[in-house]
Amino acid sequence: MQKPKRVYLDHAATTPVRKEVLDVMLPLFSEQFGNPSSFYQTGQEAQRLLTQARQTVADCIHADPREIFFTSCGTESDNWAIKGTAEALKKKGRHIITSQIEHHAVLHTCQTLEKQGFDVTWLPVDTNGLVDPEAVRQAIRPDTILVSIMMANNEIGTIEPVETIGSICREQKILFHTDAVQAAGSVPIDVRTLGADMISFSAHKLYGPKGVGALYVRKGVRLPNLLDGGAQENNRRGGTENVAGIVGFAHAFKLAVSEMPVTSQRLTMMRNDFIKSVMAAIPDTRLNGHPVQRLPNNVNFSFKYIEGESILLMLDHFGYECSSGSACTSGSLDPSHVLLGIGLPHEIAHGSLRVTLGRETEAEDLSRMVGDLSKIVARLRELSPLYPADRQQTDLNQHV
Ligand SMILES: *Cc1c(COP(=O)(O)O)cnc(C)c1O
Repeated sequence: MQKPKRVYLDHAATTPVRKEVLDVMLPLFSEQFGNPSSFYQTGQEAQRLLTQARQTVADCIHADPREIFFTSCGTESDNWAIKGTAEALKKKGRHIITSQIEHHAVLHTCQTLEKQGFDVTWLPVDTNGLVDPEAVRQAIRPDTILVSIMMANNEIGTIEPVETIGSICREQKILFHTDAVQAAGSVPIDVRTLGADMISFSAHKLYGPKGVGALYVRKGVRLPNLLDGGAQENNRRGGTENVAGIVGFAHAFKLAVSEMPVTSQRLTMMRNDFIKSVMAAIPDTRLNGHPVQRLPNNVNFSFKYIEGESILLMLDHFGYECSSGSACTSGSLDPSHVLLGIGLPHEIAHGSLRVTLGRETEAEDLSRMVGDLSKIVARLRELSPLYPADRQQTDLNQHV
């Protein structure tokens, strides 16, 4: 059999480094390798590039460069924001509000704090994955020190009403952190209207390199140092800067922001066509996540009667690289907390598929995938003991 063309459709997991980004990074590993803390010219050149990158990232979100702290990843930014706030404000209170559908970087961080005696309110979401801002308001208590609600969900793509939540937090004088790792580069972010005190970013989700992130910390918010050491990152996070990574991150973010109107419209159209075709071709399919208030590149389906794992394996065989909404791929048999959070029963949450498009995704690949996917789903349902026998004939007629 001829090897199928590989079609990468897991851009929520990571993205390839853009050519333009790699080009600005490469010289920084060899010819321009200076340490930004060194006083001589090679060092000062690195320092200049670092300053410029900080300005660029700040411009992308309309912040002041002094509010941008580079980290090693989105996970680190989330940990710093949440654990740092907990440490700084534990004398004031020990109550944190978050949602049931946060990324593990927030979820597990809050669970760790729970074990240390912090009290966490896990807000539920509606069937589309939305957090109700009024529920945030209701949950605030005199001992609340932090609200952390993600900007956009990495599994189902739902974009949360973070501006409204931000204004509630501001009015109640509670710190607000948002994990914007999945949203950055796909939806506009403006700290002047967002009302967030801390925002997490990661480069590898927006066509930058892995191993670089940033935390926006609003002026006046005091977080304990993350790493004690040198004077890097304004004395808050020691360690020689990942200059190439940071410069690549800034360039990737800038390109994503400037191309956003065009890319977002193109991806939204492709996404909607794909959703429509799959729903028309495959019966008993459910779209997970908000129908319109969702990331331009995110698709998440549940196919009744089958397991997500087997769909993924067969799709991989046909050349399509996607992910399941469930954590099974990481060795756990529990279905995804996000899908359970939107109210899916276990057996349906297990039959889920996340397809995330990217800037190099082509419409022909998606239309070919609709055909392959309907064959795969029909075949798996045929084998499924859960599938009602009287439905089989109609589906087989439709697909084979
Ligand atoms: C990928 C992701 C993270 C983690 O970012 P890393 O840089 O991989 O640590 C955090 N939050 C969300 C929403 C993500 O999608």
